[in-house]
Amino acid sequence: MHELPVTEGILRIAIEHAEKAGARRITDIHLVIGDLAGFVDDSIQFYFDILTPGTLAEGAKLHFHRVATRLRCWECGHEFHPPERDWTCPACGAMGGEVRAGKEFYVESIEIE
Ligand SMILES: [Zn+2]
Repeated sequence: MHELPVTEGILRIAIEHAEKAGARRITDIHLVIGDLAGFVDDSIQFYFDILTPGTLAEGAKLHFHRVATRLRCWECGHEFHPPERDWTCPACGAMGGEVRAGKEFYVESIEIE
């Protein structure tokens, strides 16, 4: 359950920014999560609901923006979105590549009142 420390991190960042802005409460938190980051939306939501009561983020809505995995083939430089667990280049058949997208994990923005 590695989503717990991650959710605590999200909350800390959001509250820090909200306090600096003099907000009364946080209404929305936008997260960007790459498919390779390995975090499950529902688990983050679950911990978020446990952690937020009594904080500025109580009742805030979490928005998950997913980023699909994108690879750049080592051999031919072709960029593609691989299906899960199959990192074969569709252009030349080589295995694997440089990860260009999909590892993202960050708070994109928060909305406050
Ligand atoms: Zn290739």
